[in-house]
Amino acid sequence: MRGFDLRKVAEFIRRADTEELLDRVTIYRDGMEPAALDLMEGELDRRGISREEIAEHGEARWESAIRLPDGTAQRCNYCNRPAVMRQRRWHRVFGLVPIFPRVFAYCATHGPKKTKDDANPPADAGS
Ligand SMILES: [Zn+2]
Repeated sequence: MRGFDLRKVAEFIRRADTEELLDRVTIYRDGMEPAALDLMEGELDRRGISREEIAEHGEARWESAIRLPDGTAQRCNYCNRPAVMRQRRWHRVFGLVPIFPRVFAYCATHGPKKTKDDANPPADAGS
């Protein structure tokens, strides 16, 4: 039984976003095959990313990431980025009937949008 197709992994790595590779060699490192890690670090090196930049990315990610009890980073429910916020929402059966509250995790990209206040500053009040 071979659980690991190195050729497929290498192909995936060549096409992966730099951001994704950086996440995988830093906060998701523990879950990676050593051979895959070697390939990813080689690819980052090829793209001109230094060891220092990799370390900085990892530190910044851990600062905002939600750490699970086992020490790994919580992932966003919608992509592979690390989650930076959690929100309890009602899980709905068939999208209709709320049954039980579930915790959803979001990365910075998929989090609930900010209110419009930022884009539309309130009109100057009177005077
Ligand atoms: Zn996301």
